[in-house]
Amino acid sequence: MEEYRKALTGWYNHSKRELPWRESRDPYTIWVSEVILQQTRVQQGMEYYHNFLFRFPDIPALAMAPEEEVLKVWQGLGYYSRARNMHHAAKTMMKEHGGKFPADYSGIRSLKGIGDYTAAAIASIAFHHPYAVVDGNVFRVLSRLFAISTPIDTSIGKKEFYALAQALLDVDNPGEFNQAIMEFGALHCLPAQPLCGECPLSRRCLAFTTGSVTDFPKKSKQAKQKARFFNYLYVHQSDHLFLEKRGEKDIWRNLYQFPLIETPGSVAPETVMGSPEWEKIVQSQQFILESVSPEKIHLLTHQRLHIRFYRIKLEGNILPGRLIPVKLTEISSYAVPKPVENFLLEMGQ
Ligand code: SF4
Repeated sequence: MEEYRKALTGWYNHSKRELPWRESRDPYTIWVSEVILQQTRVQQGMEYYHNFLFRFPDIPALAMAPEEEVLKVWQGLGYYSRARNMHHAAKTMMKEHGGKFPADYSGIRSLKGIGDYTAAAIASIAFHHPYAVVDGNVFRVLSRLFAISTPIDTSIGKKEFYALAQALLDVDNPGEFNQAIMEFGALHCLPAQPLCGECPLSRRCLAFTTGSVTDFPKKSKQAKQKARFFNYLYVHQSDHLFLEKRGEKDIWRNLYQFPLIETPGSVAPETVMGSPEWEKIVQSQQFILESVSPEKIHLLTHQRLHIRFYRIKLEGNILPGRLIPVKLTEISSYAVPKPVENFLLEMGQ
């Protein structure tokens, strides 16, 4: 295993990206960067990382902030449960750990939203504990180096890969080694076009020497995506528009959105406009339908959203009822899902 370690850390030392969180041994900073980068590209995550630390520079600042503010700083990153879990974990650290990160793996792992991967990253990078990280990059690198055919999305596969990663770990330098193997996967052993021709491990890579690089990693199944059909009513009236708050038990929990009519399939705009839900929102007021957007697709991990926006100008009084009237100039203080944010940007708001 020593040759693999040497090759990976050697490659890392001259090829790694200079990233701001790599300067730090502070567990809070490492945690923020790891959570932001879980489903986000580095370039996009960088701005969020700086904004998040600027607004919540430490655990007490995050714990004391209102949830809405945390969601607002997170807006556009998606997977909002990550931000909610961080908020929850910061409060737990205030209550149970004196406002500090626990310094052992099981204490870190017990915090809400911190799974095996993040716990290992924080424990190894901030505290030098010997825990191997296994993320998508590590699965790919290991499956190719050792030509492992066990599917990575099975419990037996996960066990096998965790054990191998742990055996390969440089226990004298776990934080740097973990970053080296992840960075190698992110920049060199790429999913579609790995740079095998200039790879320091090519002679030891079983997938390369057997000409089967693109066969790895193996998966047992592709995740199924559920299709949903959203019709958003962008209703505006003088200098107001109307929002509603999403519920607790669905995607985008507690975020704000335009009044929504969800249909079981793709339906014509006339059908939406003739529906009882439309009537409930518009409430018999005079209106002008200014535009209906083409259907836009927004992908989430397990859902494919088909979204149409209806731009409606209402005459008459401000709508009473469950909708929240919001001044156009104040809309930016509400945390909204990404497609709503994009639509507002298109509207120049
Ligand atoms: S030889 Fe190719 S597949 Fe093997 S580790 Fe190097 S880049 Fe990855």
